[in-house]
Amino acid sequence: MKNKTIDGHVHLENGPLTKEYVWEFVRSAQKKGIETLQILDHTHRFYEFHDMYKGVYESAAEQKEWFEKKQVNSIKEYQNLIEEMKKEAFPIEVRFGLEVCYSPENEPFLRQILAKFPYDFLVGSVHSIDGLLYDMDAFSKELLWEKQDISSIYKRYYDRVKAAIESGLFTQIGHPDVIKMYNYPAGYDLLPTYHMLAKAAKEHHVKMEDNTGAHYRYHHEDVGLNDDFRQILMDEGVEIITASDAHYPKDVARDFSLLKKQDQAQP
Ligand SMILES: [Zn+2]
Ligand SMILES: [Zn+2]
Repeated sequence: MKNKTIDGHVHLENGPLTKEYVWEFVRSAQKKGIETLQILDHTHRFYEFHDMYKGVYESAAEQKEWFEKKQVNSIKEYQNLIEEMKKEAFPIEVRFGLEVCYSPENEPFLRQILAKFPYDFLVGSVHSIDGLLYDMDAFSKELLWEKQDISSIYKRYYDRVKAAIESGLFTQIGHPDVIKMYNYPAGYDLLPTYHMLAKAAKEHHVKMEDNTGAHYRYHHEDVGLNDDFRQILMDEGVEIITASDAHYPKDVARDFSLLKKQDQAQP
């Protein structure tokens, strides 16, 4: 029961880094019965992480254009906001973190930069495969899905998710099976992969998200995790955290009532 009262992943992305905007998320969460709200934003918003995206912005003009639109703040502005928000008397628990775009080659850079900022939680997410973004309606099909072997895309995605777990950098893994979102079939049995990730997550004490974003944004039939994957994580005793991936206050806790078996998700 308890787990459904957490929204572990909501973005300030489409609004300003202000007290008022944070309160919009808090109020929306409170209205929906959320007791713990984890607010974050992507590392790609912040100038300090610019160099980490070289592979992304150099891979294609479309991606460069996307990236330049996204880089709009300094991490210092976010740090200042967090400091200010820590003084607020919220009606629910509010935690602040980052969603870090993980790729193994950036690990040394991340290890250095993340150590400088104290966060309540850190989400590691794989958003690109060898520099190519996989979830952009405007160009990912053309640049990635229709050009490369689908099984290889899935395999490289899950290799990176495993590396993110094992890096020790993160407290939580963002949308661990979102690579399914366009419904391209993996072309191989994913069960061994789910077992491998569950073992790694357990060993490294990393939470795995049951994230509803792909359901309401990409209309994938799974509301969150694949049912087999969720069951395997639960059997392994991995902590599962509900997450809406809301990019607007109204989407906090979206579709949580449709998520399965959450009552058993807490170890
Ligand atoms: Zn993400
Ligand atoms: Zn996200």
